[in-house]
Amino acid sequence: MDTDPHQTDVAIIGAGPVGLFAVFECGMLDMSCHVFDALDMPGGQCAALYPEKPIYDIPGYPRIDAALLVERLAEQAAPFGPIYHLGHAVTGLDRDADRFVISNAAGARVAARAVVIAAGGGAFGPNRPPLAGIEAFEGKSVFYLVRRREDFRGKRIVIAGGGDSAVDWAVSLAEVAERVMIVHRRAKFRAAPGSLARLRQLTEAGRVELVTPYQLAGLDGADGRLDAVIVADLAGNESRLEADCLLPFFGLATQLGSLAHWGLAFDDNRIAVEPATCATSRAGIFAIGDIAVYPGKLKLILSGFAEAAAAAHAIHPLVHPGEALHFEYSTTKGLPGS
Ligand SMILES: Cc1cc2nc3c(=O)[nH]c(=O)nc-3n(C[C@H](O)[C@H](O)[C@H](O)COP(=O)(O)OP(=O)(O)OC[C@H]3O[C@@H](n4cnc5c(N)ncnc54)[C@H](O)[C@@H]3O)c2cc1C
Repeated sequence: MDTDPHQTDVAIIGAGPVGLFAVFECGMLDMSCHVFDALDMPGGQCAALYPEKPIYDIPGYPRIDAALLVERLAEQAAPFGPIYHLGHAVTGLDRDADRFVISNAAGARVAARAVVIAAGGGAFGPNRPPLAGIEAFEGKSVFYLVRRREDFRGKRIVIAGGGDSAVDWAVSLAEVAERVMIVHRRAKFRAAPGSLARLRQLTEAGRVELVTPYQLAGLDGADGRLDAVIVADLAGNESRLEADCLLPFFGLATQLGSLAHWGLAFDDNRIAVEPATCATSRAGIFAIGDIAVYPGKLKLILSGFAEAAAAAHAIHPLVHPGEALHFEYSTTKGLPGS
């Protein structure tokens, strides 16, 4: 556990598209940032829920895959040297003299003059199957997200679940994997008709094996390396599926967690903000992106980008008191080192 907190100008909670753009907007106004996310990668919903889907309403990009948008946003933020604290939810907010001290579940602590909450629908975490010892396999052979399909080339994969993610990834991974098996406790899957039709074709062609009605019962392997997934039918009879990876797709849960207890005004589970500045009901704490609400709010990435700019301008006097802020275009100001 850290003892002295890191010092920064702005602590950003959430490394989704909006939190990432807030780093850029703060950076342009000479404010440094530390960024926290419960996920072990930046990108929020874009990375966790739809990395390979194209987005059509990002200005200047007629079409851009969600994962690529995240990459571009991280690249745009990079010149300002953000420090990321990924893989652990923010759990604490304290006050230390004129600073907020934000802490996460791993014990990292950051003291900041202002806090920007860009937490979307809350901290992302997978719904884990209750299998003994699963933690030892996580990140090595048990994955709750597919970041790059290529990582699974030539692998024997067990997918667990019966919804869109299970079906879509079975269809997609069948193109690169040696073997794909889907374990589901019902014979019927719930997914888009087109995906179900493709799954049927792949099953008939022997490219995907349906293991139904079965559920996960255990893992066999050592040192985080999986040898087999144990499944059981509804009567408890067990079978062994030789496999390199298990992908449980039982949905991602979002949790507002401690943010809900920071004394902020909420409106229908979202943080109420003043639209011109994105200021919350607590001085020095701002909220932007999906978590923020005001009359007429559109839950769109582009709205979040504008909110990041508004919040950064409102935070400037807190970080640089007494310093006049002259509004400048990026074309006039340029980037650090340019
Ligand atoms: C399938 C799908 C398609 C979409 N298509 C479009 C589209 O075409 N155009 C569009 O504009 N929008 C689209 N959206 C919506 C868009 O993704 C969201 O508006 C956007 O992601 C909001 O960004 P954000 O940064 O505010 O929050 P998020 O992307 O939700 O990111 C918030 C991050 O904060 C983290 N976090 C929350 N609480 C904590 C905590 N306590 N500690 C640490 N980390 C925390 C979360 O883990 C998460 O990573 C789509 C959404 C989905 C699901």
